[in-house]
Amino acid sequence: MNDLQKRTWAEISLENLRHNYRAIRASLPSGCRFMGIVKADAYGHGALAVSRLLQEEGADYLAVSCLDEALELRRGGIGLPILILGHTPQEYTPTLIENGLTQTVTCLAKALEYSAQAERLGLSLKIHLKLDTGMSRLGFLCGGSYFEEGVENICRACSLPGLEPEGIYTHFASSDEDGEDSAAYTRGQLALFLRVIEAVKARSGLVFPLRHCANSGAVVRYPDAALDMVRPGLLLYGYGDPTGKLGLKPCMRLVTTVSTIKFYEPGTSISYGRRYTTQRRSRIGVLAVGYADGLPRLISNKCSFYTPGGFARQVGTVCMDMCMVDLTGMPEVDVDSEIELFGEHNDITRLSDAAQTIPYELLCSVSKRVPRVYLQA
Ligand SMILES: *Cc1c(COP(=O)(O)O)cnc(C)c1O
Repeated sequence: MNDLQKRTWAEISLENLRHNYRAIRASLPSGCRFMGIVKADAYGHGALAVSRLLQEEGADYLAVSCLDEALELRRGGIGLPILILGHTPQEYTPTLIENGLTQTVTCLAKALEYSAQAERLGLSLKIHLKLDTGMSRLGFLCGGSYFEEGVENICRACSLPGLEPEGIYTHFASSDEDGEDSAAYTRGQLALFLRVIEAVKARSGLVFPLRHCANSGAVVRYPDAALDMVRPGLLLYGYGDPTGKLGLKPCMRLVTTVSTIKFYEPGTSISYGRRYTTQRRSRIGVLAVGYADGLPRLISNKCSFYTPGGFARQVGTVCMDMCMVDLTGMPEVDVDSEIELFGEHNDITRLSDAAQTIPYELLCSVSKRVPRVYLQA
């Protein structure tokens, strides 16, 4: 980043990422593989930088949501196997194969399409089958009355020419939630997943080298769901371990600067819609960050940020490119002072709670305008 343009930036600690990767890896059963989830630009941390580190550390697999994300990694020199978690239109089958990408197959109809395309080329496409065991999103239906049909469709899909079934997976709906109800639901999803795999084996003799279902919530709470490979995203970036047993460290620190500071008399309204009025003579700082940088407008008047003088209350409506803080009685904070919006001093959940959302959404929302600054050890 150009120091002259110091405005708002995201510091990414590659050391913390390395630490998190190693801590998660150390918690896994021996032989269990590691698929790093780097979709959505690695949850805002920069997919290429994160993937390079994971590759260097010996991760086994990466996953992204779509073809464009996968191609970005290949162009950046990432040679690890990459699974595309979402849909890719069948016309792109040649691109998938040429780039050595693994495609998720979520139903028989799509398996037939990919098979026909691959066969025409005389090549084969590596696939992972996705089962819908209760997330009710992508995947072969296999719960309840769909069991037999699901098993049959999976067997048929796997027997098609031009497809190389390497893996099978499912996704948990509430593995990261407390309570017996969530635990029972997650256990039910895992049991159904394993029953389908058994039934496929009994019917067709097919054995999948890579059975995987553990997202971050399951890595932390359901060790027996690790199977052949785990798929953590959030944990890698330092969040999602409620008991702190893995000792993870947040990788991103979102920092802004003070553009100007003014004193206002009591009774002065601040920002759009006049939703905050000073009660006393107030020293108000203007920060160079707004919702176009990824700071949710919903946090207006509900949050505080970490300054060199301690926590300062955010006041008034968050604007597109700016917002205001109350710096009354904080002589340590001046124009150009650095303010931590979230990071090591200001836990991201304080902000995500205020915005009625989850850390995932805040991380992904840090916009393109915000330079990522990579800190090495
Ligand atoms: C996003 C995603 C993950 C990672 O989820 P986390 O909660 O961040 O660990 C794993 N598997 C699939 C299918 C996903 O879409």
